[in-house]
Amino acid sequence: MRAARRWSVRHAAGLKAIYDACSALAPLFARPLHLLGRDRADALLAPVERLAKGALFDCRMCGTCVLSKTGMACPTNCGKEMRNGPCGGVREDGACEVDPTMRCVWIEAGEGRARIGAASGAGEILPPIDRRRTGHSTWIRVIEGEKEQGTPIGAAEPRDHERVIHSFERACVSGAFVTTVEIAPPDSADPATLIARAERFRGLVDAINITDGAGGNCHMSSAAAAAILAANDHVPVCQIAGRDRNRIAVQGDMLGAAALGVRNILCITGDDVGRGDHPQAKRVFDLDSIGLLTVARRMRDDGVFASGRRLEVAPDLFLGATANPFVPPHEDRIDNLAAKIAAGARFIQTQFCFDVARLERFMARVRDRGLDARAAIIVGVGTLSTARALTWMAHHVPGVHIPAEVIARIAVAKDQRAAGLEVLIETIAAVRAIPGVAGVHLMGHRNEDVLAEAIRRSGLTRPAPEAA
Ligand code: SF4
Repeated sequence: MRAARRWSVRHAAGLKAIYDACSALAPLFARPLHLLGRDRADALLAPVERLAKGALFDCRMCGTCVLSKTGMACPTNCGKEMRNGPCGGVREDGACEVDPTMRCVWIEAGEGRARIGAASGAGEILPPIDRRRTGHSTWIRVIEGEKEQGTPIGAAEPRDHERVIHSFERACVSGAFVTTVEIAPPDSADPATLIARAERFRGLVDAINITDGAGGNCHMSSAAAAAILAANDHVPVCQIAGRDRNRIAVQGDMLGAAALGVRNILCITGDDVGRGDHPQAKRVFDLDSIGLLTVARRMRDDGVFASGRRLEVAPDLFLGATANPFVPPHEDRIDNLAAKIAAGARFIQTQFCFDVARLERFMARVRDRGLDARAAIIVGVGTLSTARALTWMAHHVPGVHIPAEVIARIAVAKDQRAAGLEVLIETIAAVRAIPGVAGVHLMGHRNEDVLAEAIRRSGLTRPAPEAA
């Protein structure tokens, strides 16, 4: 099947021409379809479509076909069902985060799109799967005149409207260098540990990210933890992942978090469950990060759920997303960033930066597209306490790229913790000097003291921000 997929991508231009010709002829079958009845036509056509598209594209019959927009690479083969991929976990060799034995579907999609050229679907935001259609024929909808859906990035732009600007958003648009830090919520029903972790950063940062099951591991819910921080006069960024919840649940969580004083939401697809502490869990991935941004923005700007049902009071949200400039496919990372910004992200937090040269190349392209003027690009930095821990992370955490020389420098140091801190401080200074970078986002699992010290020694301290 994978060989068939590769063949289809290699012949994407020819297959797209055939698709266009069939689409043009499809209305001729509208009358017979009408006479036969939709249900009977579906019962006849769906098995044929499954056979034909299965053999050609390894199609899973999602019923919301976007093949002509994805370079003839079927995105349902993506382990996270990304509709606007790639995710941030693509491995250095281009293998998939979820299934390392296969190439990332979105790398193949990029190759197919390049073969198709102008009408490839790059630069469009593709809609989430309509689960009611799974298993049903897409051909029928083509006969009925429905086009494969996609919204050009320009048309997806959120409309400007009056709303209250809270402290983190103000910091992001102020032009001052922003500092955020990430803490994991505790494995506890007692908020004391969480509050103690956050207190270490009072007066040091503009906002504190609360991770949402990072690495596929279970902790206190991010919405609850963010609300606890908000109630304790911190400024939380609540991470919401699409991995564990469908669109009903994520909208409920966003609304609930907003009702509890959380203003900042980071929309992420989420790490796969395979390496977490519940590898037996079901992967949900109903919406990817762009799908999450889209529903959040509709709730905020249009006052409606994704279903169109009206909210009584719209949530007041500042929306963000992630980017990973450090892993393949490097060319597509800018398009993916542009799509996230078009979908409503106004702050971007990147994966760990241990390779400043790679970041500089990424930022040059960000500036060329003017994306740094439209969203605050906040670069992820951090350290772990030993070279061994960094080596483990480099090999076991998909999406993290650590050059061997960085690990070697820390490995030979007498005091590895101090060496790691020095590297972190140097990285912050180097990142800060790159035009277009709006700030740094410090990460380091249970390494809060080192991160706080790095902030102080880098001169990034600030007055304690006002709540929310
Ligand atoms: S690496 Fe990510 S985007 Fe690519 S196929 Fe795997 S899960 Fe999907």
